[in-house]
Amino acid sequence: MGRLLIVSNRLPVTVHRKRGQLHFEPSAGGLATGLSSFYRSYNALWIGWPGVDRKDSVATKDEVKEKLLKDNCYPVFLSQKEVDEYYGKFCSTTIWPLFHYFPQYASYSQSSWHAYESANRTFCDAIVEVWEQGDTIWVHDFHLMLLPQMLRERLPDPTIGFFLHIPFPSIELFRLLPWRTEIVNGLLGSDLIGFHTWEYAGHFLASVRFLLGYDSWMGKIVAGDRISRVDAFPMGIDYERFAGTAIKPEVEKEVDKLDRSFKDRRVVLSVDRLDYTKGILRRLQAFGQFLEKNPQYRQNLTFVLVVVPSRTMVARYALLKRQIDEMVGAINGKHGAIGWTPIWYMYRSVPFPSLVALYRRADVALITPVRDGMNLVAKEYLASRIDGRGVLILSETAGAAKELGEALTINVNNDDDIVNALKHALEMPEGEQAERLRIMQRRLRRYNVQRWAEDFIETLMATSRLQEDMGVKTLGTQTRRKLVKCYQQAHRRLLFLDYDGTLVSFVSRPEKAVPPQEVLDLLSTLASEPGNEIVLTSGRDKETLDNWFGHLPVSKIAEHGVWLRPRGTEQWEMIGPLTAEWKDEVRPILELYADRTPGSFVEEKDFSLVWQYRRSDSRLGELRARELVLHLEGLTTNLDLQVLEGNKVVEVKNSGVNKGRAALRWLAAEEHDFILAIGDDWTDEDTFKGLPDSAWTIRVGLTSTAAKYNISSHNKVLALLHELQAPED
Ligand code: UDP
Repeated sequence: MGRLLIVSNRLPVTVHRKRGQLHFEPSAGGLATGLSSFYRSYNALWIGWPGVDRKDSVATKDEVKEKLLKDNCYPVFLSQKEVDEYYGKFCSTTIWPLFHYFPQYASYSQSSWHAYESANRTFCDAIVEVWEQGDTIWVHDFHLMLLPQMLRERLPDPTIGFFLHIPFPSIELFRLLPWRTEIVNGLLGSDLIGFHTWEYAGHFLASVRFLLGYDSWMGKIVAGDRISRVDAFPMGIDYERFAGTAIKPEVEKEVDKLDRSFKDRRVVLSVDRLDYTKGILRRLQAFGQFLEKNPQYRQNLTFVLVVVPSRTMVARYALLKRQIDEMVGAINGKHGAIGWTPIWYMYRSVPFPSLVALYRRADVALITPVRDGMNLVAKEYLASRIDGRGVLILSETAGAAKELGEALTINVNNDDDIVNALKHALEMPEGEQAERLRIMQRRLRRYNVQRWAEDFIETLMATSRLQEDMGVKTLGTQTRRKLVKCYQQAHRRLLFLDYDGTLVSFVSRPEKAVPPQEVLDLLSTLASEPGNEIVLTSGRDKETLDNWFGHLPVSKIAEHGVWLRPRGTEQWEMIGPLTAEWKDEVRPILELYADRTPGSFVEEKDFSLVWQYRRSDSRLGELRARELVLHLEGLTTNLDLQVLEGNKVVEVKNSGVNKGRAALRWLAAEEHDFILAIGDDWTDEDTFKGLPDSAWTIRVGLTSTAAKYNISSHNKVLALLHELQAPED
């Protein structure tokens, strides 16, 4: 493997200018601290914004670049104006509130969207500058959701992973975003898209289905000619860093100091960035209620509220800060007494050893976000509890709650829930505290940030090999040229072409798939070529095929092989003696499913019945299809029928009838020196299997098949057929 290029908005190092001098300091935040040890242990380059203005002098930028490169970092320079628009506006006031279920706070501005696109492009340019064949790219977070697709368009066959560190909201919220399709397309440029929880991954898959119509199977999405994989990777922490720091003498000293201040009072702690998603006001309100309802804790309990300044340039954050100040003042004013302040409020960043000392001294961590992608503070608190004591109270709407089942989980909107959990936590026997901690600590120690990153990278590598694993053999340029050459050198050519999904894309109602002029012209030219025989192999009824293609010199197979009509003949022939009486028994069952599944309907052909659910909700459709197949199986064994599940259809027809059997009719009629069959679903598999080894067989769609090759879409089929007549070289 080549290098790992980690890409995030901020570098793990931030450059400040103090009295004309450049200072390089570690950046704060979960991603920077979490991944910094991992990336140093890897052959990695971290690409991101170092905090330096693009308009700074060339000499400054050169100096920054040189110094950063020594630490395996590569700077992307953005101007302050760009940062204000792209980060300050689009990221902070559009994506952040919407993705955290605060649609009422989200603003939508075309100019900030353009800034977002432009910043993503600037990142793309920087990566293109340093990328080398074999490098793997790992893009992080909501600031760069367009980047994967931009990179895919600029680099030859790159391996790209993306990880979203915030929630991905339900489609009902995501669809509010005016640029929702662009965002989904941007992300789908990745080979692997990772989320903290499977719930977020599910929301993303639902959005892909809703906006682009791509279905998924076990988290794999076939999007055009590529497969993207979606999976959950709950981010861990650098466990040993916290557990190790917790026993250091300097931390012991700090804990002693805290003991002297708090005396033997119990301590409740919360640590958050200033953000409305963190539920700070509700938490304070609940704490006030707790003191009212539990007077025995007055004087005996201190709530340490650490709020780290964040996004102070955004008005809503400044307002929140004022509200917190006021509420803390009100509670302290109401409940405080001489010598006892109920809430110790720190509005600042806390140095690392002091943070760990606070974690160590706190009897309870009260982590109550309204919504949080993961919440690392909860995990850090647990890792620092080396004494086997301490209770974690955690919102069920934090991603971490999915893993930390032994925490006391609460609904942040229910004040009583928080009040009761606080009491429960403060009165929990030490044995129970230790047992709960032990289980959670074991998990966090094992699935630490290193494991998380390795797990992601390993899955990414496996995903980029997925196409091979799935047995997909894409028709490459060389093979295509060979096919065209064979076609040209041949004298008697036989071409089996399926129609729906092969020459045209699927539409919601079958009667709407009228062949476009391009397809009719193409078939006409191919069929008129001396030595050519074109057989349209369709599942459609014979009347439709006559209406659409009756004027062309082509042969036809209708109803998946029930009817044949060689070119130049006046009549359709039936493949064998078939019965249709069974339809009266089966039709009511299919109609029942059509009634129960909005958007689905029954299509009737001479010797088959089809239940179509292309226009239904695909999850409901698939569920009903399974049920229907089971329902029909018992019934059809006595009737010599087959039940087949196809592309959004369930079809019931006579046994032994298929396109492959129908194709034999042309194979037996004369010798051919070039045979080609192209089709897109299971009904074409019989044709592929029935043809001699020398035949060229191609399945449309990247799926496993008896055909020799795969091709990604009907557009590529048309391009190939055009090339048969006018080869590229
Ligand atoms: N943190 C920090 N400085 C502080 C207090 C906390 O850098 O003064 C760190 C904390 O250790 C944690 C991160 O900030 O790693 C917060 O991550 P979390 O997932 O809890 O919330 P986010 O800020 O990412 O929304």
